[in-house]
Amino acid sequence: LIVVKDLHKNFGDLEVLKGIDQTIHQGEVVSIIGPSGSGKSTFLRCLNLLEKPSSGQIIFEGIDIAAENVDIDTHRKKIGMIFQHFNVFPHLTVLENITITPILELKTPKAQAEKEAIELLKKVGLEDKKDEYPRKLSGGQKQRLAIVRALAMHPDVILCDEPTSALDPEMVKGVLEVIKELADQGMTIVIVTHEMGFARETSDRVLFMDEGIIQEQGTPEDIFEHPQNPRTIKFLSQVL
Ligand code: ATP
Ligand code: MG
Repeated sequence: LIVVKDLHKNFGDLEVLKGIDQTIHQGEVVSIIGPSGSGKSTFLRCLNLLEKPSSGQIIFEGIDIAAENVDIDTHRKKIGMIFQHFNVFPHLTVLENITITPILELKTPKAQAEKEAIELLKKVGLEDKKDEYPRKLSGGQKQRLAIVRALAMHPDVILCDEPTSALDPEMVKGVLEVIKELADQGMTIVIVTHEMGFARETSDRVLFMDEGIIQEQGTPEDIFEHPQNPRTIKFLSQVL
């Protein structure tokens, strides 16, 4: 679904991504772990061109979206993104938050968009909040709303950057459960996370990033039970 070839990203003199090669397959759940500052968010943001790569290719559904003259908006509609800080519109109700983008960008008729939105809200347990404004929601509820907003666009992949790290501990589980359910339904998910339990239980593949490269990757069992790279071993000893 996504093929990354020799991706580099510099911010001025700072080389943040130093050559990443990676293939994300349809239906795969890939967790990215690694120390702070290792380039995890930058990598994720390059995947939908929120950051422009300095060099390399991002081939999404067969098209190099990092190339010049690509209409990125067309492709970005198919790539959902969930951030650490819930990206919802404060001035719109829960229902409007979900329907506005499908109505504007996919030209979905309003009634149909609302019907789909309510179905999605039911799945994440927020149906009774549809007419509330986001300020009335808890952090966990806002993040579930952000996930529903992304899903309403029928994305082919969802990128999540630490979706639970701004949440109170008691809110984390509910949000991870929603993501796990998506994974079980076959959604392609790339998630940067500090939740090692989630990475271990839900991913098909775990990438360990450090110093701008993928130092090691494998199944959760490979990475968590039999890490080979000394950096992975050191990192895991600090977080587990
Ligand atoms: P964390 O776990 O703390 O979120 P991370 O692995 O996501 O870390 P990145 O956010 O990708 O790390 O940052 C990698 C490096 O790039 C850091 O040194 C950071 O300061 C730098 N960086 C990130 N974004 C920018 C930017 N817009 N301009 C300049 N430097 C940046
Ligand atoms: Mg980050």
